[in-house]
Amino acid sequence: MKDAPLYLRPRVDPPLASLLGDVPFLHSLVDVLGSPLNVLLPEVVAENAERFRSVYRRHHLVGRVYFAHKANRSSALVRRLAACDPAGVGIDVASLEELRHALSCGFTGDRVMATGPKDREFLWLAARVGATVNLDSVGELELLAQLVRTYGLGRVDVLARLSGFESDTGHGGAGTRVLSRRSRFGTPLAEADELWAALERHQDAVALTGLAYHLDTTGLEEKARALERCVLAMDECRARGLAPRVVDIGGGFGVGYVAEAGEWERWTTALSEAVLGARPSLTWRGHGYGLRNEGGTVRGAAALYPAHRPVAGPGYLDQLLSRTAPVLGRPPATLLLEHLNDLYVEPGRALVDQCGLSLARVLDVRPMDGDPTRHLVRLGMNAGDVSLEEHGVLVDPVLLPRGDSRDAAPDDGPVGVHLVGNLCLEADLITRRLVFLPRLPRAGDLLAFVNTAGYVSDFHAHHAQRQPVARTVAVTEEGGARHWCLDEDYWPLTHPQGVPS
Ligand SMILES: *Cc1c(COP(=O)(O)O)cnc(C)c1O
Repeated sequence: MKDAPLYLRPRVDPPLASLLGDVPFLHSLVDVLGSPLNVLLPEVVAENAERFRSVYRRHHLVGRVYFAHKANRSSALVRRLAACDPAGVGIDVASLEELRHALSCGFTGDRVMATGPKDREFLWLAARVGATVNLDSVGELELLAQLVRTYGLGRVDVLARLSGFESDTGHGGAGTRVLSRRSRFGTPLAEADELWAALERHQDAVALTGLAYHLDTTGLEEKARALERCVLAMDECRARGLAPRVVDIGGGFGVGYVAEAGEWERWTTALSEAVLGARPSLTWRGHGYGLRNEGGTVRGAAALYPAHRPVAGPGYLDQLLSRTAPVLGRPPATLLLEHLNDLYVEPGRALVDQCGLSLARVLDVRPMDGDPTRHLVRLGMNAGDVSLEEHGVLVDPVLLPRGDSRDAAPDDGPVGVHLVGNLCLEADLITRRLVFLPRLPRAGDLLAFVNTAGYVSDFHAHHAQRQPVARTVAVTEEGGARHWCLDEDYWPLTHPQGVPS
């Protein structure tokens, strides 16, 4: 008997849906540029930035939205963001090459924030162009100050990144101490005194403009606590004569990948049942995504991105700013306003939500040995090209058949398939999940993986076996006509009449 289809259909907003509906266009792109292929919509990244900005306005807050560049390597997206309001949109770079790329795409140094691990060259160029340096440690501060003095660089604006937040959530002193997650980055709050002293010592070379944190979690509670703790630490700094004015709350606003909550609940429930052996496996060789059967009970934690999210992105920021903070009992937005602090955010994934898709050609389809109800679908793509597994993102690709009208085969209908890649590796599965498609694909069809611009499309791309790395194209619309160009050829300019880019 065939498995009943357990779909995880993607959330697709209008601009991406319209692109996805233009099946002949997408086929023609892959015919020319090969499989795999990434397709980006640069206009959407600007719309997303505007959505974050509107949350600022709603709360009467000022400060910038910094795109965390590491989420995507594209030039088109960075150039489109460079064309946004300079007062509202900046970029967060985490390496020397990202910094060079941002500058070459039109960002001036004063709109750049340097984060992540930093070597001397990265620090020098950041300081040279007037970027803000988001300091990870006292050691990094000392290295920067030394470079500034040795090479006669101007005084550098710095943020101090903090970590190891803990707080007393109870009242009257007998509360539970909640420890936030450990991070390799940032100075633990417990060592803040040493940091403030170093900042005072190096005031000739650096100016502390604010405090920062980045918590890789979806937990609103934990983030609200860290935000409140930063506001309080800002007051401590001011009492010592430092003059910070910005709280930078990092990224991690999230993206909802699966459209329907019900599908996500059904699938995750079914995974537990399958792990217990109560239903046929939903994965390659019974993989449990971190869950295991211990004597009839499911144990472990699923290492999965919460693919259906009722609130994500700008909406998540709105909730974070609106909820009552635990210690001071007021919403973070009010705290920021009362303490005269600006707000910075560094969204990566959320800023490129709905900005792109990744296409793969179906190369070969055959029934699985031992289970003719399931099929193996081999794609012109590998697990590095859409690193869904790496990020625990589970969502179905969309089938884009070749040709306008297909003759439906008699047994056409939903079918479970395993998507395998183009490498000679047993582990080269696009996803370990059994994917249900509305019908069996054929060689020549395309599968479109939707909403891949955040980390999924190029973070892990590699040249193993000399297979081609996906090319990336930017698609724009003007006067009802769709244009495309290679990512590197995109500039945020309108096209001269009638001349495609
Ligand atoms: C990765 C990262 C971000 C972006 O995180 P998202 O989850 O993509 O929003 C922001 N700030 C820092 C410091 C990061 O390392």
